[in-house]
Amino acid sequence: MTVALELVSPLEYGQSLAAQLGDNGWLDYWASIHEAGHATVARYLGWPVKCATLKCVRIIHPEYRTFDEPASISRLVISAAGDAATTSLLGYTDTGKGDTARSKDRLLKLGADDGQVADMMADARRRAELFVLELRPEIESVAAALRKRRILTQVEIDAAMRAARGE
Ligand SMILES: [Zn+2]
Repeated sequence: MTVALELVSPLEYGQSLAAQLGDNGWLDYWASIHEAGHATVARYLGWPVKCATLKCVRIIHPEYRTFDEPASISRLVISAAGDAATTSLLGYTDTGKGDTARSKDRLLKLGADDGQVADMMADARRRAELFVLELRPEIESVAAALRKRRILTQVEIDAAMRAARGE
């Protein structure tokens, strides 16, 4: 029913899902979209992922040397993709407070000032939102696999992404 989905706002879509699924079902649903947002954008950008669950995605980081090196900026986008996914796809906001705190902390420790942190995080959020819209079928496929199996390896994440692309 793709056509019908396009006619409602993300908020209306999220609220109707929440009403259908009940509290526990809704918690699983938005958590799966949030974590699938991280996992899908990470894999799309070629980052290694150890595993994804409904609570977290274990991503293998490089050692960052500077706050504004390309890997550090990619990491910010991956981190922003969880809340960007629930916001853009379900109208459900503020699911990324922990992610935001960890990103800020990482940038500050690498020597960024408050203004640089704010600018970089706003930019990463915009890029994450674009990825989420572009990768919506992949994110929904990874989220469905997560709800079914509760834990996914990188191979399984990649398979769910390929399935969404009809590969
Ligand atoms: Zn997150």
